[in-house]
Amino acid sequence: MKKYFFLFLTIAAFISFNGTDLFSQKSTPKKDVSSFFIDSTLAKKHLYILASDEMEGRKTGTPGIEKAAKYIENEFKNIGLTTFEGLNSYRQTFTFTNRRIKEEITSANIIGVLEGKSKKDEFVIISAHYDHLGIIKKEGQLDSIYNGANDDASGVTAVLVLADYFKTKNNNERTLIFVAFTGEEMGLIGSTHFGKGIDASKFIAGINLEMIGKTPSFGPNTAWLTGFERSDFGEIIQKNLVGTGYQLFPDPYNNFNLFFRSDNASLARLGVPSHTFSTTPIDVDKEYHQASDEATTLNMTVITQTIQAVAKGTESIIKGIDTPTRVVIEEKK
Ligand SMILES: [Zn+2]
Repeated sequence: MKKYFFLFLTIAAFISFNGTDLFSQKSTPKKDVSSFFIDSTLAKKHLYILASDEMEGRKTGTPGIEKAAKYIENEFKNIGLTTFEGLNSYRQTFTFTNRRIKEEITSANIIGVLEGKSKKDEFVIISAHYDHLGIIKKEGQLDSIYNGANDDASGVTAVLVLADYFKTKNNNERTLIFVAFTGEEMGLIGSTHFGKGIDASKFIAGINLEMIGKTPSFGPNTAWLTGFERSDFGEIIQKNLVGTGYQLFPDPYNNFNLFFRSDNASLARLGVPSHTFSTTPIDVDKEYHQASDEATTLNMTVITQTIQAVAKGTESIIKGIDTPTRVVIEEKK
């Protein structure tokens, strides 16, 4: 039995090295990448924990989001990420005033770094927001916990899986900065704070992930990108995805102004080609900002394939081969 099993493994390895596998490895990896990356088990674990009732909807400033912060920190530590410049932990803690209820809130972005091999001062940020809406009691509604599974536990799941993936691959020429932003739902608070403290010229690209758990309107194996026309970031991704069977489209929801509605905008305003990947048909999605945004409503295959596509699609940027054009935003006065 054993002998045949090893023969099978050898054949499987041969196929994955030479076939259509998105993640064929040229050098010997420290860990078997296929065992944790192609498989959606790790992604599913992150998603179900972050979107569990125990996290109480992860509203910024509540004990629920603190549980999520601890989980993300612990994952960054286990993966072996280092801390961001000027910080002595993964937390970038700050206080802000919630404009709507004039309340002071202290919260933190969670930031982990994987230093580049040769281009250490060229940063690529991979981000998602870990906050959501919390607990909202409504008359006649049994479920009051807004789990935010798609929005945006799915994106944070991608950030954690990609951090693990790139750490294992260990061949990023540019420095990768993995960020879970707080306060997105309160008005891009965390990413705006992050943007204030950086030298934007060091940031080569921003990869933001939002709501990647629903079957896209373009069909399976597709995602859409916000602000596609604002830089050549999307075209670089498309080029890298040729032959994989996965396609990236420009954001089709023009009326939703989505480029400015997620954390990518905070960096784009500083000139960084920073865009958001999503799969969700936002115009018809019934779970968007509802208590029903639960992990069980998401498609793990879509999440896993999208994470793979982001890894493959951004490869030439992370390796320092391609540099997307900067974004110019003329703000209305
Ligand atoms: Zn969101």
